[in-house]
Amino acid sequence: MTPVVARLVGAGLLLSTLPGLAGCAARRPAPAPAGIAALSLADTTFHWIERSAPGFRVHFQAGSYAAAHQDSLVGRLPSAAAHARELIGAPALQGPIDLFFIESRTEMNRLIGTRRATGFADPPSRTVLVMTNAGWRAFERHEIMHVVAGQAWGPAAPGTDWLVEGLAQAADGFCAGHPNEEVAWALARRHGWIPLRDVLTRFRAQPDLRAYLQAASFTAFLLREAGADALRGLWHGGATLDTRLAGHTLAELDTRWRADLSAQWIPEPGQLERIEAVGCGEA
Ligand SMILES: [Zn+2]
Repeated sequence: MTPVVARLVGAGLLLSTLPGLAGCAARRPAPAPAGIAALSLADTTFHWIERSAPGFRVHFQAGSYAAAHQDSLVGRLPSAAAHARELIGAPALQGPIDLFFIESRTEMNRLIGTRRATGFADPPSRTVLVMTNAGWRAFERHEIMHVVAGQAWGPAAPGTDWLVEGLAQAADGFCAGHPNEEVAWALARRHGWIPLRDVLTRFRAQPDLRAYLQAASFTAFLLREAGADALRGLWHGGATLDTRLAGHTLAELDTRWRADLSAQWIPEPGQLERIEAVGCGEA
């Protein structure tokens, strides 16, 4: 999965003040790349090819797998952003997302200083980095949701990593070609569910794959049951087992979500082991 560098994404990033555009009908140039995007473009060890799509500046490294597949990769970005906005009722972004397709963990390390990540998002500067190659599909929907939510709602409260990542992975929707819910269910059948108390309070201490998929499935359920405004309240205010949404405590909703889960998947021998070993993105 994309063990996204959520410590970088979720913690400590502040939304810079956005220019107020209300009442301004003048066409203004798109804001220049900022933050990690500006630093990445200034790195002369990379040779970037720039493409554009509605709402995006897209950057490919010359000679990469992604550059060879740039038309199809560019083509799927606008619908990914629209999907993310629709999920939480977010307004249009106030500038383009700078999205970089990266070939390898080595390159990711050169750009953001860690090999752990196959995806990275910096909501304040609307920057996304995603790794893709012949053996790994890009998690652009996950990272774009980080930007859309961060721009619409601002910084998430401390202790809401489960919601920040749950929402992003819910927007992506899939793990190894299966819906999040199916893989979460298969993992829970093998290992048990992570108690909600631990999801809420010790998300980063849990096994990545199980925690991300469980949070994604639960967050998608909460979106359906309580709506985006309720999740926005948790985003800013945090959540405990007793937090009430749509007339129920989160603990009650957790019980209902698992009882209602209809996505059941019995993997072939070795299939789940492979996903647990390499993550959700093997192409
Ligand atoms: Zn993430």
